[in-house]
Order: sequence, then structure tokens, then C-alpha cells
Amino acid sequence: MAKELWFAEYHDDNTRLGMRVTRELVAMQSEFQAIEIFETPTFGRVLTLDGLVMLTEKDEFIYHDMIIHVPMAVHPKVQNVLLIGGGDGGSLRELCRYPEIEQIDMVEIDSEVVNQCRRFLPQVAAAYDDPRLNLIFADGLKFVRHNTDKYDLIVIDSTDPFGPGESLFTKEFYGNCHRALRADGILVNQHESPYYPADAEEARLIYQRLTATFPLVRVYQAHIPCYPSGHWLFGFASKRWDPLQDFDAERWNARGLYTRYYNTDLHTGCFQLPTYVKELLESGVE
Ligand code: SAM
Repeated sequence: MAKELWFAEYHDDNTRLGMRVTRELVAMQSEFQAIEIFETPTFGRVLTLDGLVMLTEKDEFIYHDMIIHVPMAVHPKVQNVLLIGGGDGGSLRELCRYPEIEQIDMVEIDSEVVNQCRRFLPQVAAAYDDPRLNLIFADGLKFVRHNTDKYDLIVIDSTDPFGPGESLFTKEFYGNCHRALRADGILVNQHESPYYPADAEEARLIYQRLTATFPLVRVYQAHIPCYPSGHWLFGFASKRWDPLQDFDAERWNARGLYTRYYNTDLHTGCFQLPTYVKELLESGVE
């Protein structure tokens, strides 16, 4: 009998998520990390970096809708965007649906993530030929040091705070992003999960560092089945716009964009956090 192949990701020391693998498409070591893409019956193609799931074909729409459409429904006119990380192309794909965006500087550390996703995840890496894209292969931490008052929106679509992604969760980095944003700029980031203790501690630290840097910080949530616990947080940090008071549902709906997860009812709801998450986030803030 043929042996079954399974992928497993530890979500904490005693818990793991397993997916049956039907075919391995990529298994390589880049200069920065181990990159794998494989096929599964339930989640379709899956991208992992250093053994951690970055996206699956089945649920990537949730993450990419929430990291892009939430800030885009708040800021009245986004023209210049800085996207840090996001080498799979999903955030870029959603940004490119907005005609008023004039330039997207995308700073990804690992060109191999882009190459492999363009080849094996074409529905996700669908906008790499958009003429507004300025793709730079560099470390986001270093890139952002050299920009002032330039961006309306910064999207931090990073790996977890280990390995190459670690620097994208530091106070120094958030301070530089604050300086790189215009006076009414917005930053959004992936904010880890509040559930398992190690992830929850990271979420607490991210919130603490963002609130030490930005006058207005709110956290919102989504249900993403392939990520640890399925409960995922995003950070919204802003110099001026409030994600609920300045959110204009009518304006966003008039665009006629179809989104499978995001909608303007959910926009309001996703900022309403469970008590344990509120307590976690506030526990580190002076
Ligand atoms: N949605 C994913 C998640 O939360 O699991 C993240 C997706 S995306 C694949 C993350 C990208 O961040 C990777 O392609 C990685 O190479 C890139 N990255 C990690 N550290 C970086 C850094 N310091 N500067 C720029 N890009 C970085």
C-alpha cells in the first residue's frame, strides 16, 4: 500500500495541524528561508516558509481581503503605498483593484518567494505585471529608514517574528514607518493570534509597540482556518483616521468591488474584540 504523506505544523508544543499532501511542487532553501509549496485535498496548494503555513489557496482570500480592504475603506484617497513582505502577491493583487493608487513600492526580502509563487500560485501572484508596481528586493527594515512623509498606506505583510521577519516587529521599525507615512497615513500589519500563549505574547508586544508609536491604534480580527487557532489579528495604526468613525461604507460600496470575505457590515464588527483579547492587549500598555 502506498504510504500517505502528511504535513504538520506545531501550533503549540502539544498541538499540531495536519494536512494530507498529494504532491510536492517546491522544496528548496533560499538565502533566507526554506520554501515549500505542495498540494492538499482540502486546502488546495499551500505555501510554507520555514515549515509555517503562509497561505492556502482555499482561505487566502480572508487574510488578503482583511489586510487591504479595511484600510482602503477608511482612508479617503490612497495614492502611494508601501507593501513590506507579501511575496506571494495576494496583498498586491487586492491593492491593484483600486484605480486611484498611483504607485506601490513593494519591498520583499526574498526573490525566490516571488519566483515560486508566480510559477505555482498564479491566482495569488496575479498582479506582478501591474505598471504601478515598483518591486524592490531588500530588507523592509533598511528600506523604510530612508523615507519621510511619503506614503498614504503602509501594509506589513510579514512572516512571524522569527528569522528574517523579526525586525519588522521592532519599535525602531514602527518608528521609521511612522516617519515614512504622510500626516494622515495608515499602517496595517499582521498582528499574530491571541490564542496560544507564545503567539499571544507576540500580539501583546506588537500592540504595546504600536501604541507607543502611533496616536491611534485599533486591532481587528478574522477567522483564518489554516493559521494557529484560526483566530487572527490585524493592527490598524494611524496618525489621523479612525477605522470606525472615518469609515465610509457608502463610498466603499459605490466602488462595486466584489470581496468574498470583507463587507461593510463586517468592517464594523471586526473591531469588536472578545474580552480576553482586550485584556491581553491592554495588559502591556502603560
Ligand atoms: N500572510 C502570511 C502570514 O501571515 O503568514 C505572510 C505572507 S508573505 C509570504 C511574508 C513575506 O515576508 C515572505 O515572502 C518573506 O520573505 C517576507 N519577509 C520576511 N522578512 C522580511 C523583511 N525583513 N523584509 C521584507 N520582507 C520580508
